[in-house]
Formats: sequence, C-alpha cells, structure tokens
Amino acid sequence: MQSSVRWARIDTVTARVDVVMRELEERCATTVGKLRQLADAMAVEMHAGLAAEGASKLKMLISYVDNLPTGDEEGLFYALDLGGTNFRVLRVQLGGKEGRIVRQEFEEVSIPPHLMIGGSDELFDFIASALARFIASEGEDFHLPTGRQRELGFTFSFPVRQISIGSGTLVKWTKGFNIDATVGEDVVGELSRAMERQGLDMRVNDTIGTLAGGRYHDKDVVAAVILGTGTNAAYVERVEAIPKWQGLLPKSGETVINMEWGNFRSSHLPITEYDQALDDESLNPGEQIYEKLVSGMYLGEIFRRVLLRLAREAALFGETVPAKLEIPFSLRTPIMSAMHHDKSPDLTVVSTKLNEVLGISNTSLQTRKVVVQICDIIAKRSARLAAAGIVGIVKKVGRARDNAREGGSQLPRMVIAMDGGLYEHYMIFSESVQSTIKEILGEEASDSVVIKMANDGSGIGAALLAASHSHYLELEQD
Ligand code: BGC
Ligand code: MG
Repeated sequence: MQSSVRWARIDTVTARVDVVMRELEERCATTVGKLRQLADAMAVEMHAGLAAEGASKLKMLISYVDNLPTGDEEGLFYALDLGGTNFRVLRVQLGGKEGRIVRQEFEEVSIPPHLMIGGSDELFDFIASALARFIASEGEDFHLPTGRQRELGFTFSFPVRQISIGSGTLVKWTKGFNIDATVGEDVVGELSRAMERQGLDMRVNDTIGTLAGGRYHDKDVVAAVILGTGTNAAYVERVEAIPKWQGLLPKSGETVINMEWGNFRSSHLPITEYDQALDDESLNPGEQIYEKLVSGMYLGEIFRRVLLRLAREAALFGETVPAKLEIPFSLRTPIMSAMHHDKSPDLTVVSTKLNEVLGISNTSLQTRKVVVQICDIIAKRSARLAAAGIVGIVKKVGRARDNAREGGSQLPRMVIAMDGGLYEHYMIFSESVQSTIKEILGEEASDSVVIKMANDGSGIGAALLAASHSHYLELEQD
C-alpha cells in the first residue's frame, strides 16, 4: 500500500513536470522558418534605423569612426574599457608595419556594486583614479615620445548617441547599471572632468572596439558581435546608405554603425511567461528584449524561473520550494553552463551545483536530467536567436557587397569578429550559434561566413582606434 501511494505520487509529479516541459519546449521553439523571418526582420529594422532617428527599435547609432586600423599604426596608446561588471585599463605599444603589437599591459578592477547604482561622479572618479594609478606605474619598456600627450580610447559598453568621434550622450544604462544622473550626459565629458586632463579622449562602444581589433588582423572583418553579459553588434556601412547622415562625407565614404541590437524586437521572437516576468521585474522593463532572451546576464535567470515554477507546481525538488531558488539572479549563467556540460553518467556536476548554489540535495537522476534539458532548451533558443541576428547583418552587408561585385556567384568571405564570455566559455552555446548559421544560410552560402574570436577587441580595439585616429599619426602622414 505504502509503496503504491508513493508511486502514484511520483507519477503525478512526472506528469506535471512533463506538461511544463512540453509547454516550455513549444514556446521556445525556433524553427528554421522562424529564424529566417527573424533574420529578415533584423535586416528590415537596420534599414529603418538608418533612415531616421527613432524610426526603429534599432538605434543604429552613427559612431563617426570612419577609419578602421590598417595594421600600420605605430606608437604607445591607451584604452579604458568599461564593460558589464569590470573595468580595465590598458596600454599597447604598436610597432608599425612590421612590428604589430609589440607589448601590452592591462589592469582589471571590478566595479563595486554600489557604484553601479549610485552617483555619476562617484563612478567616473573611480575610473579616473584607476587610470591615474596605472599611468603612474608605467615602466620604461613603454615609450611615449617627449612632447606627446597620451592618446586614449575609451570603450564604454552602453548605448551612446555620438555627436562626433570624441563625444556622445548616454541613451540609457543596461546590464544592471542604473545611474540617473549620467543619462543624457556626455560620457566623455563626465570622464574628462573626472580626469582633469587634456589630449584626445576617444570613446567607442565595445562592439566598435571589437570591429577595429578584428579589422587590424583581418581585412575581411565586416561586423563585430558581442555575446557576453550583454549583447550587441556593429558593422561598417557606406555613408550613402545612411539617409539620416548629416554633415560632410568622410574620406573613406564609410562609417561604423553601433546597432544596439539588444533592443531589437519582433513579433517573431519566442517570448515565454518566464521572459515576460523577467522583463517586468527588470531595471529596464520593455527595453532590451532581444538582449534579455540572448545574453549571459539573463540566461541563468530564465533558467531559475523555470526551475522555480517546476518546484512550485510540480514539486520537482520535493514538498518544499528551496528558499534560494526564490532569489532573483541566484543562478548565474556560468553555473548553468557547468550543469549543461556535465558529461558524467550520473550527472554529478548537476547534483553538486544544485547543492552548492541552491542548497538542493538528494535529487534523482530523472530530476537532474530535467534540469539539463531546461538548460538545453534555453541556451539553444538563445544561440539560435543570436545566429538569426548575425544572418540579418550578413544579408544586409552581403547584398551591398554583392551589388558592388561584378559577376561571379561566390559570396565574398565575410568575417564576424566575436567577443564576450558567453560565446567564449559556453561551448554548447557557441557550437549552436555556428551550426544554426549554416542551417539558416544553407551549406553553400554559410561557408563564406566565418566567426573569429576577437582577442580582447573591446580593450585593445579602443587603443587601436586611438591610433587610427591619432592626431600625431595624421600629422606625420600629411
Ligand atoms: C549595451 C551595448 C553593449 C553590449 C555588449 C549592451 O547592454 O547596450 O552598448 O555593446 O551590452 O557589452
Ligand atoms: Mg568587454
């Protein structure tokens, strides 16, 4: 009798888990047809965003970066890189035609959480003082010719509406930052005031830095994508294809566009109740919807929300709901990744992580399998959506290149410079991005699209841009 009651209970638990899982799978479905529609929608929004300010959810911010590095740059350059959770200062000695990157050094500082939601001056003072310390510690290996000011690229990984290459106002914060006083302000001004220094201040988005870093090493780099804490893309556009462009035509006829694709929205996006709730409770409800489906800051949190529902409605972890599972952001994406990659037959990594992170012990193998299955559904949805975005850019850029080419049916080689911890460390995710691009484009066309990991684009890329826009190098060339 005892045991049959127990079995009956397990059966209903299993049945309820099945219902929730089936529903999750359905809602997260990304058929290749849907992904093609999304890629087209991305390309359409790109056009709209270039046409006029505010015409699309995609801001398509003009960067005024019209010179990507060629590889010939020479001298000592600096970069500041303010990303999602940490902040770095770098120096790079460039060797010119032969030397390439001769020497580089960096220092990484994590940003105290209270500075992410405090006052603007406090944040920029913190950054400026770290830079001052870094410069004070410079060894003799790095050589700045006498009379030269230090030239600095500033990578600021948030949406900025640029007015020139060296200035721009913050549109909004993302990724857990929320400092009202900075919104609408010139971030370079904020930084300069904090530094009280002169010289060229150049601010670029991390995608633009990644694009510059990629181009420095490979001439076929057409776009950069970040898949990390947040997500975004930038690419090179012909100025004549930008109706909203005002002012003089740059010599190169091109400029870099910071798409801010994290804010992409489309009725084709598979949005679940978990995503909806996450968005409602976020610091920026209604915004960055694509980013909330795709990027590393949110994947673990979506995963947690699914587990929580299963714990509440289907008693996945027994009679009581584990307290830690109720805490938002208690499950970070790296933990999810570790569970997802568990190759052991008993899923021991899953059981260890559940225990360590959420205080859940004594799970059955069947339960642990469900946990892995959830990781799989969420991570692959994210990867496939990212792939659709990349194909959207490839379509927009490829078409333009196609028209410029005479004859020949072969698509030109297009390299996407990639950066970000999610892509770099979550193997199942990055493999899925790659295979999905092939799936959408078909074997033949997909061969010409290459994803290359950009080595620290957001840091070194900014220093490279300081170099390709250097006053001194320009003077020497003239
Ligand atoms: C920001 C972008 C940034 C991306 C990657 C997003 O949240 O809006 O400006 O490029 O994160 O760091
Ligand atoms: Mg970065």
